[in-house]
Amino acid sequence: MSGLNSKAKRKLRRWVLAEFGDGTTAPCAMCGCLLTIDTLTLDHYPIPACLFGHLTESNVRPACGPCNAEDGKRLDREYAFLTREERRLARRRILEQIAAR
Ligand SMILES: [Zn+2]
Repeated sequence: MSGLNSKAKRKLRRWVLAEFGDGTTAPCAMCGCLLTIDTLTLDHYPIPACLFGHLTESNVRPACGPCNAEDGKRLDREYAFLTREERRLARRRILEQIAAR
């Protein structure tokens, strides 16, 4: 779904550990538990996958498996009934909020 092969994902996980942590560990963006290269999962953020977000250095944050799964379920519920056009609008709103910061 993300379009990244496992090698590219591993590279991105290393980048996230360095960018959000000390290069070896990084805290989960949601619960704060410490993650390593083996436990870290890549969370699509700020644009979730269901709003056409891709895993790139500008759209990723560290998450533990349980938080990422929970957040994915929450987003799926939140966006489940949106049409493609409504998802585009929701995506644009998020981007506008970021730009306004
Ligand atoms: Zn967590």
